[in-house]
Amino acid sequence: MIVEDEPAVARGVQVALQREGYAVTVKPTGEEAVRSFPETAPDLVLLDVRLPGIDGFEVCRQLRRESKVPILFLTARADEIDKVVGLEIGADDYLVKPFSVRELVTRVKALLRRAYGELADSRTSRLLRRADLVIDLDRRRVTRNGDRIALTTTEFDLLRHLAGSPGRVYTRGQLLELVRDYDALEQDERTINVHISHIREKIEPDPAQPRYIVTLRGVGYAFAEE
Ligand code: CA
Repeated sequence: MIVEDEPAVARGVQVALQREGYAVTVKPTGEEAVRSFPETAPDLVLLDVRLPGIDGFEVCRQLRRESKVPILFLTARADEIDKVVGLEIGADDYLVKPFSVRELVTRVKALLRRAYGELADSRTSRLLRRADLVIDLDRRRVTRNGDRIALTTTEFDLLRHLAGSPGRVYTRGQLLELVRDYDALEQDERTINVHISHIREKIEPDPAQPRYIVTLRGVGYAFAEE
């Protein structure tokens, strides 16, 4: 999750991380970040200090009450850095603006590795193998028994999230949060049903009897455990 009110910065960071295979959601205010945090359940938060409304420090404090999620601060000024480093507000790392995309990606990977261990390491997690499916996170390609399956950006990101945690149930709201920023369709939770049905048509041997993505009625979707 990126919390940043400057659209150009937010967009640049979003594109850089999506290119690395991460699903990214952008929140332009601290209030929105805090409100959507439980639903979105991000693996990492990139947090700008200067925001309209509550500032990044306050967002960090509020998130820390409920979560140990890695938080990487984006700071612009020396006095902000002092505060991030000096006060025990629970930040894990910080970057000083302007920063390079390469530096950002390096820090993000390092934080994810520290927080989630080998699973987050690019050398070990770039291929997801699930039964007959292989999901190549670097090339954003999916094959079934070696046959290439063409998915849209949204479909790919939904699939990689679901397949990344077999058995974990995602609500439609959570899945919508994951794809909201680059999905141009009219957005409500039914959008997710449409995407899931398209994914099933492409990956399931029998879309009427899905074996990969299962529906939990009244709850959401999960990728089947093997
Ligand atoms: Ca700002």
